[in-house]
Amino acid sequence: MTISDTNKILPRIVIVGRPNVGKSTLFNRILKKRRAITDPTPGVTRDAIEEKAIIAGREVLIVDTGGYKVERDDQFDELVAQKSLNVLGDADLILFMLDVNELSGEDEAYIEHLRPHMGKTLLIANKVDHVEKEPEIYNFYTLGFEHIIGISAAHGRNIQELEDKILSMIDFDNLKAREDHEPDIRIAILGKPNAGKSTLTNALTGREDSIVSPIAGTTRDVVQGHFKYKGQVFRVLDTAGIRKKKRVVEDVEYYSVNRAIKSISQSDVVLLLIDVEEGLSEQDKKIAHQIVKKGKGVILVVNKWDLKKDIKNEFKAVEDRMRFLFPILDFAPIVPISALKNEGMKELLNTALQVRKQMKQRVDTPILNDALAEWVDYTPIPMVKGKNFKIRYITQVSSDPVQFVLFVNREKNFPESYVRYIKNQIKKEFNFNKIPFSIDLKER
Ligand code: GDP
Ligand code: GDP
Repeated sequence: MTISDTNKILPRIVIVGRPNVGKSTLFNRILKKRRAITDPTPGVTRDAIEEKAIIAGREVLIVDTGGYKVERDDQFDELVAQKSLNVLGDADLILFMLDVNELSGEDEAYIEHLRPHMGKTLLIANKVDHVEKEPEIYNFYTLGFEHIIGISAAHGRNIQELEDKILSMIDFDNLKAREDHEPDIRIAILGKPNAGKSTLTNALTGREDSIVSPIAGTTRDVVQGHFKYKGQVFRVLDTAGIRKKKRVVEDVEYYSVNRAIKSISQSDVVLLLIDVEEGLSEQDKKIAHQIVKKGKGVILVVNKWDLKKDIKNEFKAVEDRMRFLFPILDFAPIVPISALKNEGMKELLNTALQVRKQMKQRVDTPILNDALAEWVDYTPIPMVKGKNFKIRYITQVSSDPVQFVLFVNREKNFPESYVRYIKNQIKKEFNFNKIPFSIDLKER
């Protein structure tokens, strides 16, 4: 069983605190003998940031914000620290941990972030290993927390009392529903190694309102981040992490293209990241074909723009080059960004929302056919080999992916240029100018 198998809302308990206070030790202690997951799914152990557990007989979710730090590089470490502060709002209960032997400046920084959530925070003074240490807990009352308990995570002191205290503080009738189950827009970030995928993922998920969590069941192979922008919940799939881990042992090209195909299917809009200094690669082209084949939205994201932005007319030059090399993606918006400097993010997200909107758009058949009559009036269908061609009518058969069907008197030799003309008109007049769509011919 994995976390996503249940729709029941469980209380979310978040453990926060600076490194080395004993969060993981407590996390393990709570999970070890009372695991809700009895059959150990490989990987769904310490790596997952969120675990089901049973505390004093009740099922809860425990979020260990420090769980990643052992596994990740320094860059990710910082992000996690920041994330651990962002998950506070979603928590039903916050366990804030300190080391009874040492209060540091870092602790104080955490306390500042916790101020708005004091009412649902339990201060845990850890490493109270002996009775003689117990009076030291009282030093912490000056910090302003209403709920305080002293424990020893490593030696198991006062754990039962801790669990009772936890349950007494959770308002089971008013649990916070999780917002991140149903994203409004699913984003996949693709591009060749070093294009800046991880940097962009971090820039996006490091926004306010964001949370990074592994997809349940897949453990930390694919990390997904959620964030909100203009009221829409975005989900980002970070596939770069996998590639990095496996880079040494696997054929990068094969691996990333296959992985890319999978994440295209799982997304609404693909951000195809291109290093402005490198330009387009063969791999980008393969990916582009897949995107078009699957009828997904795509944005050509020109990254590392900070290196070029001072050069006059550079954007025009880059744009021209891409349009020339990438005719198959002639519809795709081109957006320059600097993932590193966090520049261009608004334009990127606004564009993603526009693309999404166009993908979901549907035009009523009568309106479409009125327009068609005008287009045909304006530019009549040419004769081919002495044959007359007629369009009976047109209809949009689907959205997301967007598809039209053109019913004609004869399919054979129907002038392709004329289909292109119709396509252009649809693009312009009905605002399908940022997405791929197809027009199929049918004889009637
Ligand atoms: P985290 O970074 O907050 O997750 O902290 P860890 O759980 O990794 O613990 C940091 C160190 O403190 C480890 O060496 C633990 O063994 C130790 N530790 C954890 N809990 C206790 C405790 O109750 N008493 C003592 N003396 N050491 C502890
Ligand atoms: P990935 O392999 O696609 O995930 O690429 P990374 O995110 O690891 O980035 C590769 C390198 O490019 C790193 O050294 C980044 O710091 C750098 N980088 C990423 N985005 C930018 C950017 O906008 N500007 C500049 N100058 N460097 C960047």
